[in-house]
Amino acid sequence: MTNAIPDRTVPFERDDGVLLVGGIPADRLAERVGTTPFFAYDRTLISERVSAVRAALPEGIRLSYAVKANPMPAVLQHLSRLVDGFDVASAGELREALNSTMPAEHVTFAGPGKTTPELRQAVAAGVTVEVESENELARVREVGDLLGVRARVALRVNPDFAVRGAGMHMGGGPQQFGIDAERIPAVLAAVADAELGFEGFHVFAGSQNLDAESICEAQRRTVELIVKLAAAAPGPVRYLNLGGGFGIPYAARDRPLDLTPIGANLATLMDTAIRSELPSARVVIELGRYLVGEAGVYLTRVVDRKESRGRTYLVVDGGLHHQLAASGNFGQKIRRNYPVELAARTGDASNETVDVVGCLCTPLDLLGDRVSLPAARIGDLVAIFCAGAYGLTASPTAFLGHPAPAEVLV
Ligand SMILES: *Cc1c(COP(=O)(O)O)cnc(C)c1O
Repeated sequence: MTNAIPDRTVPFERDDGVLLVGGIPADRLAERVGTTPFFAYDRTLISERVSAVRAALPEGIRLSYAVKANPMPAVLQHLSRLVDGFDVASAGELREALNSTMPAEHVTFAGPGKTTPELRQAVAAGVTVEVESENELARVREVGDLLGVRARVALRVNPDFAVRGAGMHMGGGPQQFGIDAERIPAVLAAVADAELGFEGFHVFAGSQNLDAESICEAQRRTVELIVKLAAAAPGPVRYLNLGGGFGIPYAARDRPLDLTPIGANLATLMDTAIRSELPSARVVIELGRYLVGEAGVYLTRVVDRKESRGRTYLVVDGGLHHQLAASGNFGQKIRRNYPVELAARTGDASNETVDVVGCLCTPLDLLGDRVSLPAARIGDLVAIFCAGAYGLTASPTAFLGHPAPAEVLV
């Protein structure tokens, strides 16, 4: 099995076979950074991706960025000028979001298990709390009373349907996320009772979906559900977060998501049910990996090259402690290689099959399983793509005590 590298999974440019990040040759960038391994994110690729999404979605749809995908402060600062909102899932992310130029009223706070101190910070900041349980609603109310602030709330709904095709399901059936749709009328009565600013609803049914039709179906069913639930709301629905779940191709056989049918479907929903039933709603699509995932690369150097009983191992100075997802241990059902190249020789013919392994003392630390590469030498830079989302902050950096990698936005 070899890893054919289709260009579509790797949007980076090259110059004379050398990978460019933000227009800078990767080996030169490594000198500038001064250390390997490191993560490099290309700001032009991020901007282009946001533009492509905007072009595909109908007018009036707001675009929110799910900060957990990549919370690097420079990335947030860059995105704060490009998207309409940030969705955070912890007080730490909240602080970083508020450090950017994004106004607090365009920040939403989702996630189960929000502590009362976190709720106090959110209410004091004036962001919208996406309430995940009835207990949480009661605590938001207490916090609002205590601070003398009318807390802004939206209800996160666990829908009565699941989405086909999602890599990770976060809605439908029993869930730790959101409030079951059938409980929502009672919860809306409690919202009406309290001194709370009711904003609207949030439904996020699943992530890493490459099937446009199932995303469209989820959006249709979400609007249908929210129209029904809105009948019991204490005021007009001002905020309707339809979720996102747009997936990116990680492995060679993944087909990129086609945004055209999604845009057409949203246009229809905007012109029909949303216009007639939810006319005051800011309609939001919330994306994480789709905006940043393909704009990042993890660069690591070959430290050792060894043969063992017919297999060739390239041992690199990075590993799963920085980029867990590339090892297949972050939510993947089957391990598949992320695209791998030799950063300074992307144009050379691949003439050997190697295993790219990290420096951790565990067989889990496999970054490339039997990949085809040009013959690599010790000191070569290896580029592992799709590193812009769920990379560094989704990895066990303390494992084995190696230093943390650098991160740059170029
Ligand atoms: C994680 C998460 C996202 C982002 O998911 P992606 O797959 O990165 O797009 C969006 N919304 C919520 C509520 C999330 O928890």
